[in-house]
Amino acid sequence: MIAPSNKAYVPFVSVENMMRLVHAIGIETMLKGIAQEIEADFKRWESFDKCPRVASHSHDGVIELMPTSDGELYGFKYVNGHPKNMKEGLQTVTAFGLLADVNNGYPLLLTEMTLLTALRTAAMSALAAKHLAPKGARTHAIIGNGAQCEFQAIAMRALVGADKVRLYDIDPAATAKAMRNLTGRGLELTACTSAEEAVEGADIVTTCTADKQYATILTDNLVGPGIHINAVGGDCPGKTELHRDILMRSSIFVEFPPQTRIEGEIQQLDADHPVTELWQVMAGQTPGRRSERDITLFDSVGFAIEDFSALRYVRERLTGTPYFERLDMLADPDDPRDLFGMLDRAQPVLSPAM
Ligand code: NAD
Repeated sequence: MIAPSNKAYVPFVSVENMMRLVHAIGIETMLKGIAQEIEADFKRWESFDKCPRVASHSHDGVIELMPTSDGELYGFKYVNGHPKNMKEGLQTVTAFGLLADVNNGYPLLLTEMTLLTALRTAAMSALAAKHLAPKGARTHAIIGNGAQCEFQAIAMRALVGADKVRLYDIDPAATAKAMRNLTGRGLELTACTSAEEAVEGADIVTTCTADKQYATILTDNLVGPGIHINAVGGDCPGKTELHRDILMRSSIFVEFPPQTRIEGEIQQLDADHPVTELWQVMAGQTPGRRSERDITLFDSVGFAIEDFSALRYVRERLTGTPYFERLDMLADPDDPRDLFGMLDRAQPVLSPAM
């Protein structure tokens, strides 16, 4: 028997509990709340430790670790990207993450981050569009209607007011799934049969496809002046979505250049091609869109600070809710040096000899 003690536990949010938390808060409120945290953290960009994520590439995908710290809290996410998974009935992207106290190094929160990544990626796209899209943008084309799609549509409506959604995927079943899930949410939905049809009249285009190659989801002739593009799916070396000519005509905004140069659409460009860091736009240090005809491109790859912001949001909202379990992750010997002695608490109790 294990003797009871005054143990400290680490709150753990399972997938089941994350789903309950999202419903309890409301998905639009949560997307706006995460976007608010990201914006607040991007405005204090210089107070963070930053490095490109640590990627382990394999033939079919990538596994990545994404750490950062603001000096008070430390966070990391484990995330994969395996485009072939979907055909095997698995998620392309799965993740979990941890937040810790820098002061003593103890973990404060462990959580699933598959759902949380979809929420924070959508919040980030919408935040970028809020700063860069043409004023009054209402029509949002989403190319690639997989796991991320509905989150992107809902976030764009919540933050930007884009309530007309045009959907296209090479697999019509994916578009049908997204149409089903988004029905009844106050969006005007159109299922399209080509990327060309989807981008017709769109103010904002989100590409969110998964393929481990230099793909061309959008060709140059499909991109008219004044449009804002969120290129979400190209997030790995050798994995891009846009034709290079689109990049050459666009004002390009990125998260953390040393990471985006390796992973983003801009891996197709010279290493010194000018880009703007999105945090500088949010902090009011540099303008975003410069004219009505400007093509703005957010070359999204996903950066550790966005996950840190999402982890902080979840930790704050968990207090007082039942949506977590207590994980026994922290050793607590009576004397901190007597770790070995702590083992005795789990000593099997021998029954007395008969
Ligand atoms: P998913 O596998 O669930 O969906 C991808 C969809 O793209 C599928 O429905 C597929 O049929 C479609 N598709 C593939 N090629 C296409 C093409 N040529 N034209 C139209 N549709 C096409 O993947 P997901 O979880 O939705 O993720 C989408 C992409 O976003 C992945 O590449 C993932 O790595 C990336 N991602 C990026 C971030 C970020 O922060 N930038 C975060 C999460 C995911």
